[in-house]
Amino acid sequence: MAAPQLLQPNFHVKSSPTEEFEANSPRSISPHTNTEPAKPKYHPLFDSSEADIILSSSDRVWYRIHSFTLRNTSGFFGTLFSLPQPQSSRSCPSSAPFEEDSGVGGSSAEEEKEEEESASPIPTHEASEILTLFLLLLTGKPVPTISSWGSPACRAKLGDPCSSDPALSTSCDVIERVLSLAEMWDAPGPISYIRMGITSPTFLEKDPVRVYAMACHFGWDEARNLAAQHTLTIDLLREEEPTEPEKVIAEPRNPSESDTVDAGSTFASTPSAETAAASSIQRGLERLASKDLLVLLDLRKRRTDNFRMLLNSPVRFSAGNTPDYLCARCGVTQLDNQSWRLLKDALIFEMDRRPLGDQIVGKPVKGLGGADIMNLGAMEWPEAGPCWQARCTKEGCGGLNYDRVATLRQIAYCIDGLPLHIDDFRKC
Ligand SMILES: [Zn+2]
Repeated sequence: MAAPQLLQPNFHVKSSPTEEFEANSPRSISPHTNTEPAKPKYHPLFDSSEADIILSSSDRVWYRIHSFTLRNTSGFFGTLFSLPQPQSSRSCPSSAPFEEDSGVGGSSAEEEKEEEESASPIPTHEASEILTLFLLLLTGKPVPTISSWGSPACRAKLGDPCSSDPALSTSCDVIERVLSLAEMWDAPGPISYIRMGITSPTFLEKDPVRVYAMACHFGWDEARNLAAQHTLTIDLLREEEPTEPEKVIAEPRNPSESDTVDAGSTFASTPSAETAAASSIQRGLERLASKDLLVLLDLRKRRTDNFRMLLNSPVRFSAGNTPDYLCARCGVTQLDNQSWRLLKDALIFEMDRRPLGDQIVGKPVKGLGGADIMNLGAMEWPEAGPCWQARCTKEGCGGLNYDRVATLRQIAYCIDGLPLHIDDFRKC
């Protein structure tokens, strides 16, 4: 199994399954087992006494599951269980063939109780929140909506303890960890389920960079292209949040906060939604291979370069871009295009930041972005007013330099025609 590049896996069944079996004692391979054995706390959805394998999460939740299921849904366990096993212990995964020792042969209640007390789970380093979702997928049981993963409601529904792990604060965090686990355990079922889920509008609009990173890692071309298009709605290379406390104090988000925030505690406050979004973008970028990041940057650059070229075209914007263009009304005065040049600079600056252009036209572009219906786009920008108000200076003429409606319509045409698909450098 290839080591994942997507993220640092939090999961480690020990590196060599053979070594585990030779040790023949899960306690020798678990970091938890140096302490007193914990009382078994079976997950309510995985507590069937007929199951012959016990997996343990890092927070000591136990899962009873059939070895047959593990063997047939996970390449890792298929290999693990095919290795020669000692015949002494039945609760250890290194026990003799599970078909012969599955506990369905009619052991007495006392034996079962004794067995439970002496049960030794296979330890994993994965939190119960992750392991529960993974095993639900693996065993074909009902799974909460993928967009709810990581939420308190989802944890409560599954009976998992609240996670204190800051690395599991969003749905994408949880999805990435379940994906990583599925990859490490060579479980294609959970991976295919997540593949369908992450292309929902919820994720594409909220975390397109993270979705793009996952799609790149697993080679999901359709999801990759969709996610790349959605990254055009965000300022991918935005500057980091301010790190100088003085700056934050000088511009308090809420005047009442300025009294209680001092330089030492400024950044101990709860991060804003904007900061959280920036952090998520940053984490997504960190997971990208350089070739995949280049693909994203290339798409942005092609759109910006094309847009700049179209804006400077004298064919599309003749009044503003044609040298010595004369007033359309009097035919005498040469236009002063300063206001048009300033508007073009503002348009290109915006396209450079968010190359979709929905913030310019104030509506969705090719079905993407434009969520804020109150945004009227460039029409109401401060750079636009002087442009629409510019008039011929000849006495008695006063003709408008530019046709506002025609100009805005032409800008929208330009944006609609910009490239929207990524070029795959990997195939070059
Ligand atoms: Zn004129």
